[in-house]
Parts: sequence; structure tokens; C-alpha cells
Amino acid sequence: MKFDRLRHDMVEKQIEARGVKDSRVLAAMRKVPRHLFVSEALMDQAYNDFPLPIGEQQTISQPYIVAEMTQALHLTDKDRVLEIGTGSGYQAAILAQIAYRVYTVERLHSLYVKARKLFDQLGYHNIVTRYSDGTTGWKDESPFDAIIVTAGAPEIPEVLVKQLAIGGRMVIPVGNQYAQELTKIVRDEKDIHQTNLGGCRFVKLVGEYGWREQ
Ligand code: SAH
Repeated sequence: MKFDRLRHDMVEKQIEARGVKDSRVLAAMRKVPRHLFVSEALMDQAYNDFPLPIGEQQTISQPYIVAEMTQALHLTDKDRVLEIGTGSGYQAAILAQIAYRVYTVERLHSLYVKARKLFDQLGYHNIVTRYSDGTTGWKDESPFDAIIVTAGAPEIPEVLVKQLAIGGRMVIPVGNQYAQELTKIVRDEKDIHQTNLGGCRFVKLVGEYGWREQ
């Protein structure tokens, strides 16, 4: 199969070659059919080393960024994960291969509907979807073992940090609308520890604790 070969090449040349080592992340990236998360016209490019448009001026992230963010969450099969920014659903599918359950929130209705359909078609029964502003989190289902924000925030929404379990991990791009720093937050009994994983570029996180709607 053409796409299987392209996918295995992607993992070897873009992800392992850049130092991602978590075997669960590598296995998930070898398994999830990324080409099904983009439009038919872009399928041949789905395994290339860049982001792609998914409609509504949004993008599916570059494969390496998905791998790096997922690895930073140190997931186990017991973990409940919150994702803000469902988009194509690809990142949620990767998380769902590794974690116990994924809760994913999308603010654009057409993308939410499309992703929900795809999860059902592909049999991702451990992904729970929601159509709303994710900057306020998902209080009823909190605390989460991990939180991943896949859109760029002007600052870290405090309300999301509060929905992290003790020992919980969060990754979030923080910066202006053109460039952000991928930021990792770990919550322990007493403190919040913050580290910087490097530069990145995401579409805007729009909502109450993100950027204001244009
Ligand atoms: N994780 C996605 C990346 C999508 S791009 C994937 O794998 O394809 C970022 C997404 O975040 C867009 O779909 C955008 O609509 C969504 N988004 C932006 N602000 C949001 C908010 N406040 N709540 C929920 N989703 C948001």
C-alpha cells in the first residue's frame, strides 16, 4: 500500500531522525492513517514534512510537531487527556492510540462535525468531542492527566492549569500571532514548573482566554 510506505518513511525520516524516542508515540504515528484527515486533493501530501490546510483557514500540524507535543505529555494507557482545537482530528487520534480517553474541543462547527464523523468511521470510541470555546477547559471532566492546546495562545489560560491533576502535564504554544514558544507545564503538589520546548507556529487560539474574535 502506497500510504503505508509513505507513513513509515515519515516516521523514520522526519520523527525518529529528529530524536523522538517514545515507542508509543512512534507506534501511534505508524498506525494512524493521516491521509484520511485531509481532503482528497491533499492526500498525496499528507505524509510530507509540513502542515496542510483543512478548511476554515485552519491547518493540520506538521507530523513532527504532533510527535514532539505528544511525547512531551508522557502519556500512559491510564491517562485522560484534554485537547483544545480538534481541527482535522489527527492529533486526537494519535492521543487516542496511547491514552485511556481523549476529550477534544473545537470552536468551529464544520470542523467539529467532520472530525466526529471520522472518529466514528475509523472506530475511535475513546474520543469524546465537544463544540465550544476550549479556552475555559472542560470543568465537568477535570482534572486531566494531560492537556494539549493545538492553537497559539497569547498567554497560558490559568483556568486550564487549574484543570490539571497533580502530576499532570500540559503543552501549549504561547506567543504572538506569528510565532510562539512551545511551552510545557508540569503541576506537582506545590508548584507549577514551566519549560520551553522551542519555537513553533500555530493558528490562533480564539476565545474567552485566548485571542479576541476579529
Ligand atoms: N489538532 C488539530 C490542529 C488544528 S488547528 C489537528 O490535528 O488537525 C487548531 C484548531 O484549533 C482549529 O481547528 C481552530 O478552530 C481551533 N480553535 C481555535 N481556538 C479554539 C478554542 N478557543 N476552542 C476550541 N478550538 C479552538
